[in-house]
Amino acid sequence: MARMLLSAPVARIQVLPETLSNQIAAGEVIERPAAVVKELVENSLDAGAARIEIALLDGGRKLVRVTDDGSGMSREDAALSLQRHATSKLRTKDDLFAVRSYGFRGEALPSMAAVSRFSLLTCERGASHGTRIEVEGGRAGEPRDAGAPPGTTVEVHDLFWNVPARRKFLKRAQAEQAQCIDAVLRLALPRPDVTFVVREGERPIAQLQSGPQDAVLPARAAEALGREVRGHLHEVRSETRGLKLRGLAVAPQVDFGSARNVWLFVNGRAIRDRSLTHAVLRAYGEVLPHGRFPGAILFLEVPLAEVDVNVHPAKAEVRLADPRAAWDAVQMALQPLLRHEPRVAESHAAYGSHQPELLPQAKSLRYLGQLHASYLVCESEQGLVLVDQHAAHERINYQRLRAAARGPVQPMLVPQVVELSAADAARIAGARETLRSLGIEIEHFGENSVAVKALPPPLQGGLLGPLLADLAEGLTRVDDDLFKRAACHASVRAHDALTPQEAQALLDALDQTDYGARCAHGRPVVAAFSTAEIERRFGRDYAPHSHAAPKEIL
Ligand code: ADP
Ligand code: MG
Repeated sequence: MARMLLSAPVARIQVLPETLSNQIAAGEVIERPAAVVKELVENSLDAGAARIEIALLDGGRKLVRVTDDGSGMSREDAALSLQRHATSKLRTKDDLFAVRSYGFRGEALPSMAAVSRFSLLTCERGASHGTRIEVEGGRAGEPRDAGAPPGTTVEVHDLFWNVPARRKFLKRAQAEQAQCIDAVLRLALPRPDVTFVVREGERPIAQLQSGPQDAVLPARAAEALGREVRGHLHEVRSETRGLKLRGLAVAPQVDFGSARNVWLFVNGRAIRDRSLTHAVLRAYGEVLPHGRFPGAILFLEVPLAEVDVNVHPAKAEVRLADPRAAWDAVQMALQPLLRHEPRVAESHAAYGSHQPELLPQAKSLRYLGQLHASYLVCESEQGLVLVDQHAAHERINYQRLRAAARGPVQPMLVPQVVELSAADAARIAGARETLRSLGIEIEHFGENSVAVKALPPPLQGGLLGPLLADLAEGLTRVDDDLFKRAACHASVRAHDALTPQEAQALLDALDQTDYGARCAHGRPVVAAFSTAEIERRFGRDYAPHSHAAPKEIL
């Protein structure tokens, strides 16, 4: 072995061939079709486009094509743009700390060209003809003259055709499509001045017309958060220590199954930031039911010197010089919307100690009234019983849904058509089989609508848009979580005033379940306070005839 090494001396450190280093860079920047969409649309925005069209085939797995009416490129620039670290957006180190453009690393085009069948067609305004360059797996062909309208079209075919290990990780078309739409929305929300159109094949799946900010933002917010937020969006704004925050927040009547619907932007750039997301969740606090999340689209403006955007290859994270000020800005902006909302539940632990051994039997319960439109107050043989109406109803529906899923499907007399956002429609289509095993049958109904043809009885009569969007989110198999989510939707909420008849019906239904357990989300359903405990609180547990007043007072 040693002899072989000695007899064949080779340099151990080598400069990587350019194609290989581009493929490695692609690993960081281009993970999936949505990343291609993001990088190309960013380039179009940097080129000053007013209209950007995004065409997908097979959710972007077969093709992502982005066409813009921006500045276009000369033949020299077009050839240069495909070289690594070639950028028109950054000249000096100082620029790096004042970047306003989306791109600046000069990596995106060569990276995606290294892992796809790639073509670039571009034409400068006023030029007599344009330029076409084709690249296959990183090998660029000669630039050729080509007729083209002013602007640029980039096509990325067969992403990862030459990197099978990565191709394997692509998801099904619908899931990739939903991510592509999200990527467009992240770029479109801060840019009401630009029109965006997304198509799958010939079919438009999102059309975002440009216009005045006040009109455009709510329309785009409905695309991003789901159409059920219409009528529940509130403008919010605040200003503190040089930071400005503005945006739209969803009133807590509408809530979501994950924190995915908190969209954050810093200086017009979509970012992920745990601390800021957490600030939003904290602001909503317990106004939302346990395990539910808010929706909001918030734009933070920070002086350029106060933020470092070059901390993430896809620029999805930023570093703020004063994160505390950003946290405060979020709290201040959301407070006016949430201040008047009654709070839902106290600490769950408080119930724990009262619960287990005292659970009354069916109840021997006599309904007395409703507390804060959230709890049913009942008298039992042993004392006082509070029932959390939402938790109770959720428990009942959860068990009914599980039972219904085992039985035959219940077709609806008249199928109900539900209009969804493009991303939700794609997710729903991908989750059809899963929904069927829950007793929900849906069919595609043109554009982004579905027709609901069968529904288990506990779910009938509720709002179907939020239910479907919630169920489809990230769920690939029927498990308990699906039943829990559905049960939550079908249930009365805290702050719903109930008539005595409704309350009694709820209590009766509770009888049929093993309600001694917790609600589907793990909160207790019932808290009981024994007579002995109540007497102790009133100092009646000392004298044997405690109804007699203490002697001293007589
Ligand atoms: P970056 O955006 O970081 O500069 P890219 O690899 O994405 O790097 O693009 C390289 C260069 O190609 C850009 O700096 C820009 O000059 C040019 N370019 C890319 N896309 C377009 C486009 N759609 N219109 C005009 N110029 C473009
Ligand atoms: Mg770029």
